[in-house]
Amino acid sequence: MKHIEKLFVVGAGQMGGGIAQVAAQGGLEVTLNDISQAYAEKGLGVIRKNLERNVSKGRMTEADMNHVLDRITLSTDIADAADCDMAVEAATENMAIKLEVFRKLDATMPEGAILASNTSSLPITEIAAVTKRPEHVIGMHFMNPVPVMKLVEIIRGLATSDEVYKTVYSLAVRMDKTAVEVNDYPGFVSNRVLMPMINEAIYCVYEGVASPEAVDEVMKLGMNHPMGPLTLADFIGLDTCLAIMEVLYEGFGDSKYRPCPLLRKYVKAGWLGKKTGRGFYVYE
Ligand code: NAD
Repeated sequence: MKHIEKLFVVGAGQMGGGIAQVAAQGGLEVTLNDISQAYAEKGLGVIRKNLERNVSKGRMTEADMNHVLDRITLSTDIADAADCDMAVEAATENMAIKLEVFRKLDATMPEGAILASNTSSLPITEIAAVTKRPEHVIGMHFMNPVPVMKLVEIIRGLATSDEVYKTVYSLAVRMDKTAVEVNDYPGFVSNRVLMPMINEAIYCVYEGVASPEAVDEVMKLGMNHPMGPLTLADFIGLDTCLAIMEVLYEGFGDSKYRPCPLLRKYVKAGWLGKKTGRGFYVYE
């Protein structure tokens, strides 16, 4: 099993920043990469804020916070991955972007280095196929917010080797996560189960079965979910929910995954949920 010491994280957004934070907290040397210095710094700013909150709540000392921050270096050049043991890609959910990133990482990184993607829905096997090391490519699907959520779904592509799987499993443990092994099929397990439930909740509103508040109340009080599916959809982003439903619909060719027309309408209107101030609910 390979020992991972130097981790390269591509994308300093919501997910990449969180991954860099938990990796540095696990003692790894982290390089956090984005397309511009401003984006990379923004990512680091969010990490600093998270850590400061931990210090103010007495969960971490200031010295520990500084050690974590010292382990994170910023980058705007994929060439900086040349001496890293592994990369986790958390760039925008777009296949063309991911394929380009993986081609560059493959050309830059040493033989034996592992290339992981945090994609929520794109096929790992297809990403692996553009590299010369498909056995070293794997999915490492963290949940949002990364520092809080325990789960990492580890997705084995068609060619992923057992050794790479074991290395990534132990890395997840080092990041204080619980890893679950899943094979590469549309939506993996998390989104294959979650998104059709959210889509069905949207159908309930679309067909006039109940209001968004009523749907959420039923699922919270009746099923003991911490938040209702429509609140969760607004939090995830309705554009993301639609994109994942499209992946399921296309990937399985089964009409049970058809996205609800109301979901499409909201996305077309720019009602994307919390991030745009309006989705199934209105946000100040
Ligand atoms: P985000 O928009 O917050 O961040 C994406 C970042 O990637 C941006 O800072 C962008 O500038 C950067 N980027 C784009 N192209 C790049 C490139 N070529 N090189 C380097 N950086 C680049 O998005 P996010 O929510 O952090 O999502 C990132 C990935 O994580 C996606 O694949 C998404 O599906 C997945 N994911 C998201 C969630 C979630 O709830 N947001 C959960 C699990 C997985």
